[in-house]
Amino acid sequence: MDLVIARPEGLYCPAGDFYIDPWRPVERSVITHAHGDHARTGNQHYLASSASEGILRSRLGQDINLQTLAYGQRLTHHGVTLSFHPAGHVLGSAQVRLEYGGEVWVASGDYKIEPDGTCAPFEPVRCHTFITESTFGLPIYRWQPQAQVFSEINEWWKGNIAAGKASVLFCYSFGKAQRILHGIDESLGPILSHGAVEPLNRVYRDAGVYLPPTIYAGDVKKSDPIMRQALVIAPPSAGGSTWMRRFGDFSDAFASGWMRLRGTRRRRGVDRGFVLSDHADWPGLLWAIDQTGAERVMVTHGSIGVLVRHLREQGLDAQGFNTEYGDDEEDSAAATPTIAEIPA
Ligand SMILES: [Zn+2]
Ligand SMILES: [Zn+2]
Repeated sequence: MDLVIARPEGLYCPAGDFYIDPWRPVERSVITHAHGDHARTGNQHYLASSASEGILRSRLGQDINLQTLAYGQRLTHHGVTLSFHPAGHVLGSAQVRLEYGGEVWVASGDYKIEPDGTCAPFEPVRCHTFITESTFGLPIYRWQPQAQVFSEINEWWKGNIAAGKASVLFCYSFGKAQRILHGIDESLGPILSHGAVEPLNRVYRDAGVYLPPTIYAGDVKKSDPIMRQALVIAPPSAGGSTWMRRFGDFSDAFASGWMRLRGTRRRRGVDRGFVLSDHADWPGLLWAIDQTGAERVMVTHGSIGVLVRHLREQGLDAQGFNTEYGDDEEDSAAATPTIAEIPA
């Protein structure tokens, strides 16, 4: 009997009678992380990692019925033993390990292999069946070490300071924004953050993650000379809005795994694209799957077909799971690559 099956409401554990990251309201939900497509409102009961509590309450409401477990702590429900293990994706992100009648399944949620200092690093968990995401599950996706990406961002910021321009960097406001803040060279100049980013910075700081001081952009006047030296962290939705007028002359950039595709930066209409993702790249996905020792792999959201075919060629029992998870690197309208854009 399968420990997890796909149901219209979400991934369901029949033995334990609960859902993992359901996309429709259910009675019992187990949440891997607080991105909006994995953690939705309306569930009667939430179970999540302790490290995700601050973010979950700030996004879903302080009064949600939430029970938490520290990473590695076990809970048995209807005979199913459940525990959370770090996924290295964003603050509090977890893989869910389920054990029942000697069978072990792990649902990855979203994960990233390279540790970034803003959340507990990814830990492979041995299992019989691994449910993996595949957001960047194509062989073209191979990330540079993040130190290199951060030095590119620092150089761009320095160049803009020299030219007397603000540097506006668009990125997803939960996770990516804080990872960038943690990783950039704060000695270069003042850092401003958009109203969608600042409350999340607070949650990270409360959780003990170091972020450099940030100034709420709404508090700075257009005439203030710090504008011309500032790095501004803003969500993609701020691009092209009247909110941008306060920066006068600026250079803009976008940080996302999708920047690996030539057309994405052009479509975004930004000056620069930085390839920085909070998901595993193709080698990372294959490494993680191998580390679990699983003989059976269920592939969710992303490039299901390509990854399933590749794993089958490696002799694994692989299949796709249809889910309604979205894309936390960018709003999806601009994210769908066309074949012409895939670099050689
Ligand atoms: Zn996510
Ligand atoms: Zn996801």
